[in-house]
Amino acid sequence: MKSQYKSEINLLLLTLVLSSLAGIALGFPQTGLLCGLVGFLGWTFYRARLLDKWLAKPGSDKPELTGIYSHIMERVLRIQRHNEREAQVLRGHLERQNLLVEEMRDAVILVDEHDRVKWLNRAAETLINLDSDKDLGVPIKGAIRNAAFHSYLDGEDYSQPKRICFDENAKSWLDISITSYDIHEKLLVIRDASAIQELEDMRRDFIANLSHELRTPVTVLVGYLETLELQDPENPATSRIHSEMSKQCERISALLKDLLTLSRLEAIDTKDSSAVIEISQMLERIGDEAKGLNEFDGHKLNLKIEPNLRVMGTSSDMLSAFSNLIYNAVRHTPAGTEITVRARSKGGMARVEIIDQGLGIERQHLHRLTERFYRVESSRNSETGGTGLGLAIVKHALGRSGGKLKIESTLGKGSSFRCLLPLAPKREKGQEDLEAETAPLEKIAS
Ligand code: ADP
Repeated sequence: MKSQYKSEINLLLLTLVLSSLAGIALGFPQTGLLCGLVGFLGWTFYRARLLDKWLAKPGSDKPELTGIYSHIMERVLRIQRHNEREAQVLRGHLERQNLLVEEMRDAVILVDEHDRVKWLNRAAETLINLDSDKDLGVPIKGAIRNAAFHSYLDGEDYSQPKRICFDENAKSWLDISITSYDIHEKLLVIRDASAIQELEDMRRDFIANLSHELRTPVTVLVGYLETLELQDPENPATSRIHSEMSKQCERISALLKDLLTLSRLEAIDTKDSSAVIEISQMLERIGDEAKGLNEFDGHKLNLKIEPNLRVMGTSSDMLSAFSNLIYNAVRHTPAGTEITVRARSKGGMARVEIIDQGLGIERQHLHRLTERFYRVESSRNSETGGTGLGLAIVKHALGRSGGKLKIESTLGKGSSFRCLLPLAPKREKGQEDLEAETAPLEKIAS
C-alpha cells in the first residue's frame, strides 16, 4: 500500500513538474502549475467515481483503474471473495440445521408475538395436522384447541413442559414445551406422548384395581381376627399375635386407601369438579380432629385462620391435603411440640401454612418428600404409622386446583408446609352466598 501511495505522489509531482515546464515554455509558469494541479484532481475524481459506481453495483464489470484506486479495488475484491466463502460455509450450516429440524420426529413451530404460525417443520404436519402451505399465519390456538394449552401459552412460566390431550377419541396426547427467546417469537417443540400416557394410564388403573380388589380380603381378615380375639381374650400367647396381625392389617388398609386416593387424584379431570370451597371452617374442623389422634401428646395446636377464606378446588382434595399436613405435623413431631395452622389471603392467593417447631428435616430430603413412599430415615425407624404417600397426595391434590406446596425446614427448629391456592373470585354485592362444599370429615391419614 505504501508503494502505491508513493507512486501516486510521484505521479502528482511529475504532473506538476511537466505542467510547470510547459507553463514556463509558454511564459505562464503559475498557470501551467495550476492547470497541472486541476488536471490531476479531475483525473482523481474521475477514478473515484468509477470505483464508486462499481461498488454501488455489485457483480458489475471491473472498471479500468490505475494507481491507488486500482489497488483499493483489488482489496475490495479480496474482501468480497472472503465474504462469499464465509457465506457459503454459513449457508451450508444453515441448510444442515434446517434439514435436521425438518427431519425431527418432534414438531417444531415458530410463532410470532400474536401466536400466529411463522414456520413449521414436517412433523408438525403429521402430529397436529398443520399445512405448511396454508397454515402460515394462522393462530396456533386454533390448531391446538385445548384450554390447558391455551393457558400455558398465555402464561409466563414455561419452565416445565405441558402434557395435553390433543384428541380424546384417538387417545392422542402431546408434550409441549415452549421457549420464548424474545418478545416477538416463541418456539414450540411438540412431542407425541400417547404411548407414555397409555403406559401411565395402565399403571394407574392397575394400582387402582389392585387396591380395590385387595380391600375386601383385608376387611374379611380384620373381621376374623376380631372374632378370634373375642373368643380367647385372656390368652397371652395368642392375644399378642392377634394384636400384631390387626396392626399390620390396619396398615395394609391405610396403604390401600391412600393408593386409591392417589389414583383418584390422577384420574379425575379437575375441570369437572372444581368449585368454590370455604376452607376456614374445614381447617378448624381438621384441627379439632387432629386432637383426637393417638399421637396427639401434649402438642399445642394454634389455629390462626382468617374467616371466610374461599378457594377454587374440590372439597375432597382440600380435605386430603390439609388433613395429611396437619396430621403429619402431629405424627412426626415429639410430644409437646407447638404447631401453628395459619390461613390467610395474600397477593391474590390463599396461603395455608402448617408450621411446627419439631425436629425439622435435613435439607437433602426436602426435594424428595413428595415422592411416593419416600420417608426420612428417622421416621422409617420410629414407626410413625404413615404410609409414605401423604405428601404425594398433598402435592397432587393441590396441583389439581392450580395450587402449590412449598416445604421449608431447619434441622432442630421445625418445618413449614405452605399451600398456595388460587382464591375464589370475590362475591358481587347482592349475589347469593355460594354454598360452600363441606364434605363430612374423615380421617385421611391413619
Ligand atoms: P408418611 O405417611 O410417612 O407421613 P408423608 O408422605 O406424609 O408420609 O411424609 C413423608 C415423610 O416426610 C415422612 O415419612 C416424614 O419423614 C417427613 N415429614 C412429613 N411431615 C413432617 C413434619 N411435619 N416434620 C418432620 N418430618 C415430616
